[in-house]
Amino acid sequence: MTDIKIEIKYSKRRKKTVSAVFRNDTLIISAPQNINKQFLDDFIKKTKRKYFVSMENKKTNLKELSLKLMKKYFSKAIRDKIGNDFDITFVSTQKTVLGVCNYANRTIRLSDVLIPLPNWITNYVIIHELAHFIEPNHSKRFWEIVNNYPYVDQAKSFLQGLFFGVSHYKEFLSFKTFDL
Ligand SMILES: [Zn+2]
Repeated sequence: MTDIKIEIKYSKRRKKTVSAVFRNDTLIISAPQNINKQFLDDFIKKTKRKYFVSMENKKTNLKELSLKLMKKYFSKAIRDKIGNDFDITFVSTQKTVLGVCNYANRTIRLSDVLIPLPNWITNYVIIHELAHFIEPNHSKRFWEIVNNYPYVDQAKSFLQGLFFGVSHYKEFLSFKTFDL
């Protein structure tokens, strides 16, 4: 995660409210003088995440990337069916699923946990969610569409390994290289 400078201004006048504003690359926090340290830490963490996600959304044009991936991996018939009328963004509030496709609202929400992962993993999740515009379930037809992306199996293995590692082997997180 890119780091940003933090400046905390304590105020005697403030009673309860904490507020945050970004100026250049500095997050300026205004807080009551007697604020609970844990509460303030959590607030800063959450605000930093939101900032990080909005920066990433600005940097990566996910809609453009989605259309590019569709053009590369989906047939014209599938592309025409999905169309151009959808919205796709990273969000910081999605902690248990990597992607959610809302067919009715024409939106795809990607979890910010994807941001540091290699592009070909995010591309897989985008393709997976785009295919849900056609097939809501993981049907045979759904996988026929998704499998046009050549790295589906690798991406699944990568993510399964990642989930397994994070939940079972926290000590691996400090490993820098693997001698494979
Ligand atoms: Zn799915």
